[in-house]
Amino acid sequence: MAWDFETEPEFEEQLAWMREFMREEIFPIETLRLSYDGILEIIKPLQDEVRRRGLWAAHLPSELGGMGFGQVRLGLMHEVLGQSGLGPLVFGNNAPDSGNAELLAVGMEMTGRHDIRERWMQPLLDGKIRSGFSMTEPHTAGSDPRLLETTAVKDGDEWVINGRKWYTTNGSVADILIVMAVSNPDVHPYQGSSMFVVPVGTAGVKILRDVGAMDDPQVVYGRFGNHAEILYEDVRIPADHLIGPEGSGFMLAQARLGPGRIHHCMRWLGQSQRAFDMMCERSLSRFTHGSLLSEKQTIQNWIADSMAEMNAARLMTLQAAWKMDKVGASASRVEIAMIKYYGATVLHNVVDRAIQTYGSLGYSADMPLEAMYRAARAARIYDGPDEVHRQTVARHALKGYTASEIPTQHIPTRREAAREKFAGILEFLEAEQV
Ligand SMILES: Cc1cc2nc3c(=O)[nH]c(=O)nc-3n(C[C@H](O)[C@H](O)[C@H](O)COP(=O)(O)OP(=O)(O)OC[C@H]3O[C@@H](n4cnc5c(N)ncnc54)[C@H](O)[C@@H]3O)c2cc1C
Repeated sequence: MAWDFETEPEFEEQLAWMREFMREEIFPIETLRLSYDGILEIIKPLQDEVRRRGLWAAHLPSELGGMGFGQVRLGLMHEVLGQSGLGPLVFGNNAPDSGNAELLAVGMEMTGRHDIRERWMQPLLDGKIRSGFSMTEPHTAGSDPRLLETTAVKDGDEWVINGRKWYTTNGSVADILIVMAVSNPDVHPYQGSSMFVVPVGTAGVKILRDVGAMDDPQVVYGRFGNHAEILYEDVRIPADHLIGPEGSGFMLAQARLGPGRIHHCMRWLGQSQRAFDMMCERSLSRFTHGSLLSEKQTIQNWIADSMAEMNAARLMTLQAAWKMDKVGASASRVEIAMIKYYGATVLHNVVDRAIQTYGSLGYSADMPLEAMYRAARAARIYDGPDEVHRQTVARHALKGYTASEIPTQHIPTRREAAREKFAGILEFLEAEQV
């Protein structure tokens, strides 16, 4: 019977190396308050080391230069990298560039257009260009992309794009934007939306501002990690900037988001574990009201609950990854939806408890917890708000049931049926007064 929770020893060795590399080489950089360009400079030798070990951009299929690891191993790897926001950057799989490279790869596979690799995909993977993913609009509900209003109209050998987007992460520092737009309003949105590569210098691309947000309320325009509001006004791009076939926007989005969610959830678990470690350390160090915090039941409950929740989220996520490896992303939709909201909630709760355990120090910027908390809050919104994923799971669950006026477990009704079923023996038992 195949039922195995072990990591093969060779991969465990790689993970052990990654853990030490994160702790010794990457964590210290977090404290230096470097600009993005400064970070890029200081991590160069680390990126070279990752390349030497063959772990660079490992998320891609092997034919595209990835490691062909499969989702379970990638998940375990992301759990380690996710402990620090810098991990993915050092390992060549930071969002949104990694997801966008995957999108381009899927589009390339669908059309056989290999020029895409040289033009955009390889430069993205090599870190030579940066990208943004421009789907969400300020005036339509991002949770339901069927409502998208940005249009792409074919005009000879060109597509003309019009619309307003926001929350395009890295939009103001990107070289290319991947834009989702309605290319055929006469069919169902699932078949009528497409994705396009829009180089930022194209006439009509107007980056209006970076949106001040919880991760940076006093935002300074043009910094890595900002979220741009962008107006696309009569933006003309050549027909070959369409990714995949016309109408494949939703299919591409699914292909990008499925594995991406496994990686997100595992990175969240890496963050949760780090917050948990901080919480345990503090509880053993802080003395108040006659005892250490670790001896107070409330703190013990937080530790025990956090550990159980993290373990549950980890098993759920690895099972979803395993299923994805076995039967693909589409057949694993429900498992992937489930880990999205469960994982985001676990991260939020564990970081919240850790902050509370630290009191004022936890709230202060002297600890990494306040930044982790702000990031955790966003996780419940991006990648589809949690409520939408809950809806997917609930709808799936409900498919297994039918309405019943009298509940099927209604005891008097069942008793009557049981009496009929066992009438003979019941008569005998009554006669014998048993
Ligand atoms: C940090 C961050 C980074 C982001 N980066 C990008 C990016 O790079 N590119 C991009 O295109 N977008 C990005 N987004 C946008 C993100 O994808 C959207 O915010 C998300 O899809 C939700 O869309 P919305 O904000 O329009 O909320 P709405 O669709 O207006 O939803 C608002 C709320 O309504 C509720 N809701 C919605 N549907 C249901 C339902 N079926 N049942 C019950 N309640 C429901 C939920 O509570 C939801 O939070 C980012 C967002 C954040 C916070």
